[in-house]
This record gives sequence, C-alpha cells and structure tokens, in this order.
Amino acid sequence: MKTNYDFLILGGGSAGFNAARVAVSLGLRTAIVDGARELGGLCILRGCMPSKTLLYMADVLHLAQKGKTFGLKIPSARADLKAMHARKRKIIAEFAKYRVDALKHGKFDLIHAHGRFLDPHTVELSSGKKISAKHILIGTGSKVSVPPVPGLAAAKFWTSDDVLDLDFVPKSVIVLGGGIVASELTQFLHRIGARVTLVQRSPHILRDHSAAASCIVQKAFVDEGVELFAGTQVLAITQTARETTVTFLHDGRLITRRAAHLFNALGREPNTAALNLAAAGVRTRPNGQIVIDRFQRTSAPHIYAAGDCSGPVEIVHVAIQQGELAARHAAGVKHLKPVDWSLLLNVVFTNPQLATIGLLERALDERGVKYLVASYPFNDHGKSILMDANYGYVKVIAEPKRGRILGAEIVGQDAGELIHAFSGPLAMRATVFDLLRAPWYHPTLAEIITYPLEAIAEQIAKR
Ligand SMILES: Cc1cc2nc3c(=O)[nH]c(=O)nc-3n(C[C@H](O)[C@H](O)[C@H](O)COP(=O)(O)OP(=O)(O)OC[C@H]3O[C@@H](n4cnc5c(N)ncnc54)[C@H](O)[C@@H]3O)c2cc1C
Repeated sequence: MKTNYDFLILGGGSAGFNAARVAVSLGLRTAIVDGARELGGLCILRGCMPSKTLLYMADVLHLAQKGKTFGLKIPSARADLKAMHARKRKIIAEFAKYRVDALKHGKFDLIHAHGRFLDPHTVELSSGKKISAKHILIGTGSKVSVPPVPGLAAAKFWTSDDVLDLDFVPKSVIVLGGGIVASELTQFLHRIGARVTLVQRSPHILRDHSAAASCIVQKAFVDEGVELFAGTQVLAITQTARETTVTFLHDGRLITRRAAHLFNALGREPNTAALNLAAAGVRTRPNGQIVIDRFQRTSAPHIYAAGDCSGPVEIVHVAIQQGELAARHAAGVKHLKPVDWSLLLNVVFTNPQLATIGLLERALDERGVKYLVASYPFNDHGKSILMDANYGYVKVIAEPKRGRILGAEIVGQDAGELIHAFSGPLAMRATVFDLLRAPWYHPTLAEIITYPLEAIAEQIAKR
C-alpha cells in the first residue's frame, strides 16, 4: 500500500512528541498532526509545569509566613498574584518555546490541523486534506470532564486552566473533588490567601492512595485552615451573579456553602470523541478511553495509543514511555519490554508531598502476596525536626524471604525527591540489604529511609 507516512501521530503532546523523536531515529517517515491553537501539550502549557511553578512559589510564601518558627521577623509576607502570574508566564513561555522549536525543526513533518479517521489508514485533516499512513499513533490527551453532579453543567465554573492563570487572589473558592489536581490547587489557593472549601465524595482526599497517607495530607490541610468535607454527596449547585452555592450531605447533615468562585476539579476524560474511532476499528471503554495491549496497540493492530487518551494513568513520564514504546514497536524493534507497572511512580505535590513507588499493601493484599512492612515517622527524625517538617512517614515494603524491595510510600517534606532513592534499586530488584550497604549522609532527610530498611532486615534475620 502506498502511504504518505510510515508513522502518523495525532497529537504533539508528551506522548506524541517523544514517539516522533524515536520514530525518526529508527528511520520511519513520520508526521505529527496537532490542531492546538498553542502547541506544546498539556504538561508544559496547563499541567505539570505551570502548577509546579505556582506551588513552589506558594511553598516559599508559606515558609516566609512561618518565619517566627525559625526565629525570623518577616513582617508581612503576602502573595502578589500579578508578579507570581508574570513569573509563571515567563517560565512557561520559555519551556513552550523550546518544545515548539523542537516540534517545528524535528526530522518529522508538523501539520498544524485537527485530524479524524476516515478509515483504518486514512486521516482527514481540518483543512480538508487526507493523509494516509502504515502505522498511526493516537496521542490526543484528555480534557476536563463535567460529571453529572446536580447543577454543575449549568454553573459557571473554573477548571485547572483558569486557576493556573489567575492574576488576582480570589476571595473565596469551593473546590469540587479531592484528586491530585484538586488537592494541589486547593492548597495553592489557600496559601495565596483565598478562603477555600474542598468538597469531596470519597471518605478521604487522594482516594487512589492509602488512607494512612492521604489522611496525613488531609490533616495538614485542615491544620493550615482549609475547610474540608470528605464523604459528601452534592445535592445542588446554584448560582447568582455574585456567588455560587453548593448544598451537600455530610455525616447525615445538610450543609450549604457559598463562595465567589466554583472550581470543578472532578477529573479529566480521554479526548477521543471527535476522532471517529469507529471508522478505524479502534475500540474504547464507555468513558472514551482507548483499549490498548502491552505494546500500546489498539484493537486495530497497526494503530497505537499512548498517554492520557489510553491511560491507565495520567502521568507524563508514563505517556513518554508509552509513546516511545509504540514507535519502537511500529518500527519492528525486537525484544521490546512493555511498561513495567510494578515500578509505577506517583507524586502528589501538596505540602507535605505524597509519593509512592512499586507495589503497596493494597495491591499486594488484593493479589494475596505476602510481604514485610516497616515505617518511620518524620517527627522523630533529626533533619525533618530542624526543618519543622514533622508530618508523615517513610514506609518500605519488601518480599519476606530475601528482602527484595517491592514498594515504598513516603508522605512528608520533599517526598517527591526522596522517593527516587527507591527508583534505581526497585528497577534493579535490590534488597533491603543492598540498600543498607549504600552510604547515607547525615543529617539528611534521605537517611530516614535507613530506619524502615533496618527494621525489615531485623524481621528477616529473626525468621
Ligand atoms: C493541572 C495539572 C497538573 C498536572 N501535573 C502533573 C505532574 O506534576 N506530573 C505528571 O506526571 N503529570 C501531571 N499532569 C498530567 C500530565 O500533564 C498529562 O498526563 C500529560 O501531559 C499527558 O500527555 P499526552 O501526550 O497524553 O497529552 P497532551 O499533552 O494533552 O497532548 C495531546 C495533544 O493532542 C492534540 N489533539 C487533541 N485532539 C486532536 C486531534 N483531533 N487532532 C490533532 N491533535 C489533537 C492537542 O492539541 C494536544 O496538543 C497534570 C495535569 C494537570 C491538568
């Protein structure tokens, strides 16, 4: 079959861009089709990078406001949202320029248009042009979802895009949701000076994490002054020109809260509805998520999917890994290894941060796998005490016979950095004994990791 390309990619975000980079390095005639007004992808423009830029600034503000704890006189540390906004825009513009240059000057074609399938090998562009390819990768990402919460669809609400672009301190905000984005931006809004109420359906925020870990983040929020309701059922959302009212059930009581703004942080959904996937024979789940196999192939085996549109997670390094894997598979590279989900790494950039890697207790219990576990609290550790960073713990989970590390969970100061002490060892299938042979500098936050390691080593020695 004569086609325009060997490898055509729909979407030039993290998954698509990195797939293209790998595909051209393997000699495939490659093109990216992306119809965004602003190129660069979610992570750079409206995801990881703007959120972490703002969260870091809010962390600095929080430390300054805690000056008295450290014997400092800082009379009035306050957020200057105009300046924070300008700094964020400058940083993001630089990241985006770098990515757009790489998209425009890669050894692949960049076609600035939206695409949809006409048949399994042909994509129609919004310009009306048709292009065909031997292999196609779908990397169209995700969009904010509006679940059927009474009154939500008709209400005027903010999404994370709006919160990340604020240049003023809102007076008050009701946040619907308790996932990662909801939690991170709730703390941001609170720390810059907004009155924030978080309303969450599950019994605790960050429900994909263990109750022990999320409840520590939840406690830190409440200690800081965030009003937080978990285990709620929203009954109505109504709006006037000046405020939004949310009515919900909590602990059997009817509660009403009013705020100047409503933030819908109830999650995202795969961006696949406009792709005419049926014409290509690509199967999706009821929520629009593309069904993939271990090598990112869809139900049409020459069509791949990667990143948020296929999941199963919405994490950038996974989207990159999936895109690269699809490109290698399409190029016919032999002995490929699929994504290793036993190494899944997660970070929530709240303060305290919550980070996990590998297989944790819930997953191991479900699989009936035996394990040893030990943890150690930050409020009994020298470095964290001197930093007044007392929330949380480090937990290590290991296989009982040889002590091979299966997973780790850290809640606390810089947990997102500390968890990487486990990345290499987990990938190399190291044991607690291997890690105890490594040097750990004193006094560091990282050396706390040696305590649960030692506790597991002792448990094995006693057996
Ligand atoms: C507020 C926020 C914070 C986040 N923070 C983090 C974090 O700290 N760490 C982390 O790992 N992840 C984070 N994420 C998630 C992360 O940003 C995503 O998982 C990742 O960016 C997804 O990459 P992708 O390539 O799948 O999609 P995207 O980057 O969204 O790329 C999809 C591209 O497809 C294009 N497109 C869509 N439809 C079509 C079409 N029909 N034709 C052509 N092109 C099309 C779009 O224009 C877009 O450029 C965050 C997300 C949000 C919202």
